[in-house]
Amino acid sequence: MEQSAIGAPQLAAQWTRVRCRLQNEVGEVEYRTWLRQMSFGGLDGDEVTIRLPTRFLRDWVRSHYSDRLSAIWQAENAGIRRVDIRVGGATVDDPLPDGPGADEPAPSHQAVAVGSVSPLGTPSGPAAGPRPDERQDGRSEAALDARFTFDNFVVGKPNEFAHACARRVAEAPASQGFNPLFLYGGVGLGKTHLMHAIAWELTGTGGTARAPGSASVAYMSAEKFMYRFIAAIRSHSTMEFKEHLRSVDVLMIDDLQFLIGKDATQEEFFHTFNALVDAGKQIVVSADKSPSDLSGLEDRVRTRLGCGMVADLHATTFELRMSILEAKAARSGVPVPPKVNEFLAHKITSNVRELEGALNRLIAHANLFGRTITLEATQEVLHDILKAHDRRVTIEEIQRRVSEHWNIRLTDMSSARRARAVARPRQVAMFLAKQLTSRSLPEIGRKFGNRDHTTVMHAVQRVTELMERDAAFAEDVELLRRMLES
Ligand code: ADP
Ligand code: MG
Repeated sequence: MEQSAIGAPQLAAQWTRVRCRLQNEVGEVEYRTWLRQMSFGGLDGDEVTIRLPTRFLRDWVRSHYSDRLSAIWQAENAGIRRVDIRVGGATVDDPLPDGPGADEPAPSHQAVAVGSVSPLGTPSGPAAGPRPDERQDGRSEAALDARFTFDNFVVGKPNEFAHACARRVAEAPASQGFNPLFLYGGVGLGKTHLMHAIAWELTGTGGTARAPGSASVAYMSAEKFMYRFIAAIRSHSTMEFKEHLRSVDVLMIDDLQFLIGKDATQEEFFHTFNALVDAGKQIVVSADKSPSDLSGLEDRVRTRLGCGMVADLHATTFELRMSILEAKAARSGVPVPPKVNEFLAHKITSNVRELEGALNRLIAHANLFGRTITLEATQEVLHDILKAHDRRVTIEEIQRRVSEHWNIRLTDMSSARRARAVARPRQVAMFLAKQLTSRSLPEIGRKFGNRDHTTVMHAVQRVTELMERDAAFAEDVELLRRMLES
């Protein structure tokens, strides 16, 4: 799809400016380390392709710079909506990694693997050793991320239900009550990961005993669905598009919220959806909200989406963040001290993607500079990330939020009352003050009616224990933390 009328020289000039701006934003050193080897891969419709010579660099740039790249590109050329970051030259798709740390797990990135996964039938599943993490099938549509398997998915309270549903669908697609499977939750909590895991499992490449190619799976983001549908209309090939989608055993549409307001595309999706469900095929959909909260969705679509299994991925808990860090660190083979994991799990609470990104940066540094990972090194290497997360929350703000949450008087934060109904919220506020501010224990004590620092210490311990024992309480505290952090 040739889109705008801009010529090659103009594009080249835009590309130069994009690079300059990025360099100015990130600084010389960072630019030279990660971005210097970017090359321009072309413009297709509203999507710009940028290439990097290794898988490692590609993943790094994707996870750390894709948002900035998109923003700068958009500012430069309003017709550009997306930036696709890939490996290699124009024809080599994803050669084997050869960059620094190429044997390490690649840093996290937005799951941009989109397209259709026909039976891959390749002898090398993810378990079979190093392999490109995006395979191309015969129609050269990008495929699945090799790291997004069930084996690599860490299960904890916040995601156990969604995980169990995903497993179930992978084992017995289109079973009663699980079709469609609707996964929802905030960004970076594992929706795409679970969808890819189902696809790996079903196409027989997920490292388990299923025969290769036993099911055909089409996985794509809602955006890609729309993009391809519109492209099909323009090239008068909607029939082929429809037939292709209706021929699969499993259709997965990721980030369905992007279809909102796109009426024709929604309509097409609805018809495809119905045709597949009626034919006993499995549908898996993800979105950032539940079907009932996705405003702008047509009622009949909403109804059908909600009539299978709806499973949400909750925000992570400290416990889950620790397990994920431990699992990822163990896989990397680089020793990460428990103190560092704890520090990260406390500091980076937004989502798994950011957590993973932070850990990967640490590991990459350790590899590049041959340094061992320590708490000091962590603070230095992650300086920028930590600063962003270290928004100045004041103790007063914490006290206010916490009292509102439990409906007690603000003055009770510093009063001498010891009834559980006020003592517990007060302890939570102390706990949050310790976690979210850089105040010392005595300073915190003073703000809570001149209490002793040992009282604060006790509060922190007590809340930690309770959070481990009582999931509902833990969720309350996490919720408060997120509100305060945002
Ligand atoms: P979403 O699609 O919900 O925005 P993703 O599935 O892309 O999130 O997950 C973001 C990143 O976090 C991915 O690299 C994914 O592998 C990782 N991740 C999320 N949840 C888990 C988990 N429970 N265990 C291991 N990795 C996870
Ligand atoms: Mg996703």
